[in-house]
Amino acid sequence: MCVKCETFLDGLFEHGLLIDTGVDGLYGRGGTFERVITGLENLISRYGDEDKAEVVRFPPGMNRALFEKSGYLKSFPQLAGTVHSFDGYERAHNALLAKLEGGEDWTADQRVTDIVLAPAACYPLYPAVAKRGPLPKPGLLFDLQSYCFRREPSKDPARMQMFRMREYVRIGTPEQVTAFRAVWLERGRDFVHQLAIPFEVDVANDPFFGRAGHIMASSQRDQGLKFELLVPIESVEKPTACLSFNYHQDHFGLTWGIGTQSGGVAHTACVGFGLERLTLALFKHHGFNVASWPSSVRDALWG
Ligand code: ATP
Ligand code: ZN
Repeated sequence: MCVKCETFLDGLFEHGLLIDTGVDGLYGRGGTFERVITGLENLISRYGDEDKAEVVRFPPGMNRALFEKSGYLKSFPQLAGTVHSFDGYERAHNALLAKLEGGEDWTADQRVTDIVLAPAACYPLYPAVAKRGPLPKPGLLFDLQSYCFRREPSKDPARMQMFRMREYVRIGTPEQVTAFRAVWLERGRDFVHQLAIPFEVDVANDPFFGRAGHIMASSQRDQGLKFELLVPIESVEKPTACLSFNYHQDHFGLTWGIGTQSGGVAHTACVGFGLERLTLALFKHHGFNVASWPSSVRDALWG
């Protein structure tokens, strides 16, 4: 790390890898940072392509009515972000401008729109799949990528409010879905091994809200429904989840009414790659100068 930079985040700014916007967790990305993201995406595809996943890309906003139905607000109200917009005539506009001028709160006239920010790449997928009717016998497999929003401002550069998640999502019978997750647990290890960064895989839980959330979190752990591949980035004692392997059981199948051929409820699982977190891990462990990274890592990303 350079002498001038007090923290890893300072170093990222100093080297033009991230660009400060004045809001914690909201950054611009420099060209070199993006080149690493592209390399990671290509490497992920080299692992995933053999399964012939259907590629789908949603924008970072999703249908609010579908979001409401998804149950996200029950579990993670603290993380959700909604889109509001001005919805008035001349008089309201003048009032807005006057408040703005006077340094007052001008947002009271903003109305919620029919769009919310996607909290994970897979949220808009399930209702779209449900519309197709019962699953084909082999089930379905998707390749997704999206910017996601989570209201978790932090000085830790690895905890952003807007970041990209690449995901493979499997929808099918419990056997199909658990087999998928087992394969990706192995592939995930192999993938990170190629990046030559330290890691460990551990059981994990989502940050469910409130007192009932504690019970949901321990039940998720006890059943081994979520694993994370963790890499030390901001702290060695508390390494950061760079990949997540989630088994949702029939949660989304029931919520959206996705059925299997034999009349059962579809199970789902996903593997999520945090593209910014992986990029940050590479800069943390191999330095700010990409030209001096190990050649095996450079080959894996851009070879
Ligand atoms: P954490 O436990 O660190 O909050 P998470 O359990 O919320 O992570 P998931 O919900 O499984 O993570 O999201 C999938 C992937 O998206 C994670 O493995 C991680 O790499 C990435 N991710 C999650 N939250 C953030 C964030 N705030 N900033 C950057 N990447 C993130
Ligand atoms: Zn999180």
